[in-house]
Amino acid sequence: MVAFFIFPAFTGFGENNKIEEIIDAVDSSMLFNYVETIQNFGTHPTGSEACQEVAEYIYNEFSSIGLNTTYYEWSDGKYEGKNVVAVLKGETNSSVILTAHYDSYPGSPGADDDGSGIACLLMAAKILSKYEFYHTIKFVAFSGEEQGSLGSSSYVRYLYDGGEDIIANINVDTVGHATSKETGNIIRSLTNEASIWLSDVAEEICNTYSDKIALQLYRHANFGGSDHQSFVNYGYEAIFFVEYEFNKNMHTPDDTIEHVNISYLTKVCKLIVATTAKIADMHFSVRVRFAEPRLGSVYINDRKILSLKEHHAVIFGRVYAIADVISNEEIRRVEFYFDGEVDGFCNSKPYSYIYDNIALFSHSIKVVAVSENTSDMSKIDIIMFNLLPPGPPH
Ligand SMILES: [Zn+2]
Repeated sequence: MVAFFIFPAFTGFGENNKIEEIIDAVDSSMLFNYVETIQNFGTHPTGSEACQEVAEYIYNEFSSIGLNTTYYEWSDGKYEGKNVVAVLKGETNSSVILTAHYDSYPGSPGADDDGSGIACLLMAAKILSKYEFYHTIKFVAFSGEEQGSLGSSSYVRYLYDGGEDIIANINVDTVGHATSKETGNIIRSLTNEASIWLSDVAEEICNTYSDKIALQLYRHANFGGSDHQSFVNYGYEAIFFVEYEFNKNMHTPDDTIEHVNISYLTKVCKLIVATTAKIADMHFSVRVRFAEPRLGSVYINDRKILSLKEHHAVIFGRVYAIADVISNEEIRRVEFYFDGEVDGFCNSKPYSYIYDNIALFSHSIKVVAVSENTSDMSKIDIIMFNLLPPGPPH
């Protein structure tokens, strides 16, 4: 990708120049080197010595950039491993978390899955660390993904329990394969309802910088299958980027750099780095989250009786919901939904609501905070067992 003509953006703000510079800094030969280095460790499944070596390689890359880098150790009974975490401190402690996984499928050198994502992660760290952002950016390389997103589940739970304010997860898994002009111009983005705004941001980047990036966004509804799901499970907003064309070499010994299209990977990397930068500088006027019920807990009505290792919230009786609203605008109302339908409202702090629906098993609750100019929503899944008749008015 070479842009022969560069038109200066006519803007009174520095933002466009910053994003343009960031896009232009993505270096395809460096991406090639990252992918090649990772595949040359050979197959590196979670728990293997090669996996440990890849972790050290990533750790050293992050450190050499000057980022505060640590290992996050996780274990899941059967497996254990380390995530590599690098932090670029922002003005706020709210975080935008860019992720990819460094473990490979057993037997596969993992050039595309997910050497391509790790290459984007390292490139992003290298470029973005030269700038300042409003929010904190975390770069996280997970292991345990191929065994069921074990490294990310443990890490996200840790952040959730610590009360981290996560603005968004941007997850990059298998983004380097394209064998035709058509598939080389499309990238898939997967988002759930609460995260659609992340696809909107990515699409805006594609449109604004089409001459530099030349990618179309192919939007999907969310499905699991990568580490973003760990964020979704804890009620956070996440976008998952994955290549448009299916790579038949995935999870085989042939997942090598020969099947990675570096100019495609370069375009995807530009999109990801620019999207991350854009979100890390966004100011939000309204944000809402469920403070109660807590995920990973068992309740009897409003009383928490147990913590669960899993992300589920299990409630016997009525659901006592409390919404945390962070806002610099006046909140007009907070709406509480049950299985997609409005169930009731709350107009003043604390924003609480009692779901007294007679219901069994899996349901979803959603909260929407509406201000004068905008709104924000958050949605979580709960397991409830309530046969109590609707109670006194709330
Ligand atoms: Zn993967």
